[in-house]
Amino acid sequence: MIQSDPSNAALSLDHRQFRNDEFWQIIPAWKDVTHDQFGDHLWQAKNSVKRLSEVKDVLGDRVSDELMNDIDAGLKIAPMNIRITPYVFSLMDWDNPVNDPLRKQFLPIASQMLPDHPYYLADSLYEDVDSPVPMLTHRYPDKVLFLPLTTCPVYCSYCTRSRIIGGSTESVEKETYGANMERTEEAFQYIANNPCIEDVVISGGDAFNMTAKHIEFIGNRLLEIDHVRRLRYATKGIAILPQKILTDDRWVEAFFNVHRRGRELGKQVVIHTHFSSPREITEWSRRAMDRLFAESVIVRNQAVLQEGVNSETDVMIRLTKKMSYMNIQPYYVYVHDMVPGCEHLRTSLAEAVELEKQVRGCTAGFNTPTFVCDAPGGGGKRHVSSYEHYDQENGISVWRAPNVKPDELFLYFDPLYKLSADSQARWNDATQRENMVNHAIHSVDLKLTQDQRQKISKRLESAYHQPK
Ligand SMILES: *Cc1c(COP(=O)(O)O)cnc(C)c1O
Ligand code: SF4
Repeated sequence: MIQSDPSNAALSLDHRQFRNDEFWQIIPAWKDVTHDQFGDHLWQAKNSVKRLSEVKDVLGDRVSDELMNDIDAGLKIAPMNIRITPYVFSLMDWDNPVNDPLRKQFLPIASQMLPDHPYYLADSLYEDVDSPVPMLTHRYPDKVLFLPLTTCPVYCSYCTRSRIIGGSTESVEKETYGANMERTEEAFQYIANNPCIEDVVISGGDAFNMTAKHIEFIGNRLLEIDHVRRLRYATKGIAILPQKILTDDRWVEAFFNVHRRGRELGKQVVIHTHFSSPREITEWSRRAMDRLFAESVIVRNQAVLQEGVNSETDVMIRLTKKMSYMNIQPYYVYVHDMVPGCEHLRTSLAEAVELEKQVRGCTAGFNTPTFVCDAPGGGGKRHVSSYEHYDQENGISVWRAPNVKPDELFLYFDPLYKLSADSQARWNDATQRENMVNHAIHSVDLKLTQDQRQKISKRLESAYHQPK
């Protein structure tokens, strides 16, 4: 019989412990904040840290000048500005902020950042390219991605949509928009006119930043379309502001109304959330999940694989088991997208393949996340082990996506800091890197026609062979 063994993440029972202390009182500015105040979503929103100076205001002497300068320099490079709820801010380990997995996600420091990969793209997933009308990406036959707003209750410094999400930064100018009932009309029309579409991902931005009225408006409009069978509201909220589920009754009721209406129509209305570290999970998260579970709401999780955040086996297993324990289904773990400002957070594909192997079997199969690479260039999500070719020495993988773009090839590149010195030197030479890419493409024996090969080369050339 298998015995519990705390030193082995798969056998440990640690994931059943949910932090329930007044952890925020260790932050000087919040030392007198009561449990009730901290539990109020309005207090959380009002006291969110949105500026560098507020990091200092909140922490006082607990933060060194050296770290403040490092954050300052980090924010000058990062494509996202900061917004951090007190909940997340006080879960960061301010005794060891440099190595803290939460600090790494929301408060980048320049000393850890690396130059972008030569083939990074601001819109790595071609969401704007595969967009038939504003706010909509239609890549797969029967599902669409709908982006009705560009704001979130927290900003992740590694956001895959850093080109549009949040306010402008020193390095990226953005046109920020909130959800607006008129602007979405064209998207509804497109979906209504495309009978293939059964599935709508309502993302952004974050559904937590939609008003109650908007949640219902968008949900009802979509449910009224006969062929739409499944809605997913995407929000990181349960991970970073669980207090909203517990105290914003209007918002929660609005969601429940759409959920109930869906059920009456025989349609699924669910939430997709975004936990990346077991350290984000506390008794607050569990209570928020209890409220949703009591209404039979299905919640699934999409995590991003990040170096030093969740790249170690025991951390990923604990995250998987802890979410499962509170009725969140671990759905995806994404290999990090090749977007600007997060080279230091990316792992190699080989690490993702190994981690998948280590995690599978630790718990129920339906609670085991699928590890995927969202293929740059709009190939869509592919299982990490399903590449056509992988040159591990140079960190180049080649992918196909038969249901998305059957005549194309897609490339993912491992971060250079994971490669050997020799390989890094090759990458620093433009001619050699073009040769490596061409070699990888030609290693895939697809029996393509001349025409198809030319089409592939042309797209790859425009994406990857332009000097940046
Ligand atoms: C992720 C995504 C979806 C949903 O894909 P699932 O694999 O069903 O979760 C739909 N459209 C786009 C453009 C996406 O990126
Ligand atoms: S919550 Fe999602 S959309 Fe918002 S900043 Fe984070 S990753 Fe980007």
